Amino acid sequence: MTAEIIDGKKIAQEILADIKYKTADFGYAPKLAIVLVGNDDASLIYVRNKQKAAERVGIQTVLFHLKEDTNENKLLEIIDNCNSDDTINGIIVQLPLPAHLNSNKIINRISPQKDVDGFHPYNTGLLQNNEEPFFVAATPLGIMTMIKTICSDLSGKNVVLIGASLIVGRPLATLLLNQECTVTITHIHTQNIKELTSKADILVAACGVANMVKKDWIKNGAVLIDVGINRENGKLCGDIDFDDVKDKAAAITPVPGGVGPMTVAMLLQNTYRAYLLQHGKL
Ligand code: NAD
Repeated sequence: MTAEIIDGKKIAQEILADIKYKTADFGYAPKLAIVLVGNDDASLIYVRNKQKAAERVGIQTVLFHLKEDTNENKLLEIIDNCNSDDTINGIIVQLPLPAHLNSNKIINRISPQKDVDGFHPYNTGLLQNNEEPFFVAATPLGIMTMIKTICSDLSGKNVVLIGASLIVGRPLATLLLNQECTVTITHIHTQNIKELTSKADILVAACGVANMVKKDWIKNGAVLIDVGINRENGKLCGDIDFDDVKDKAAAITPVPGGVGPMTVAMLLQNTYRAYLLQHGKL
């Protein structure tokens, strides 16, 4: 058996083409405000990629690029202005923020109706209650879309997640639970992790440890989702050792070209959704 490749890049392109088609008829472009504090190398690249992808599908972006030492009041004032600006549909704050800023306090200030990253507790709370939030975080949303290309009925599936972060593991666990999966969340302190992962029908690795998951960690015919973005010997790789597992798994997402492009596509889909929401079209 050789694993089927879940082509995130291709699925993302289809989603982006659909957004471009739909926004072409709008009187004015949906607008995404991006707040970036400081000059973290990875954040600068992520923000640039989001801006380029948005431009390609007819979504305008406005970047608030603030100095590293920006204080909390200044940042909150910018968010308040974006909240009350009717021409701005979505707001994201690029994480991580510098250590002197309280991320929760900043995120909680974004209007839930403009929270296209889906991190506001109002939106995460609705998700927990199995009600429809305004927005769901982009990475888990992209992962769900990819999983559904392989498994149309998730009910009763045994899913193991490696990583319990607020942006990936926790919201993804809730989405899967809401689809009646049996979900196990593991993290850095989990004992005998291999025993758990080797029973998973679907395994999602989001821990940021290069090539950690090997053949003996997985069940025959498992569906593998690799969220990790790591560099090893100058080469980009995920948390799953692709070459080691590819003959044992049923399907796998590649790195690059898997979860990454889907995350950007889902952010823009959320921005399009924000536009519809604020124009009474949802
Ligand atoms: P994080 O640091 O916030 O969380 C990492 C999680 O993994 C924690 O729960 C931690 O306990 C767990 N973990 C760490 N080492 C572990 C180990 N050895 N065994 C088991 N669990 C372990 O990270 P994050 O922001 O969730 O990102 C995780 C990875 O996913 C990173 O490589 C990041 O770059 C990548 N990522 C990719 C995308 C994308 O769009 N492709 C989006 C978000 C994150």
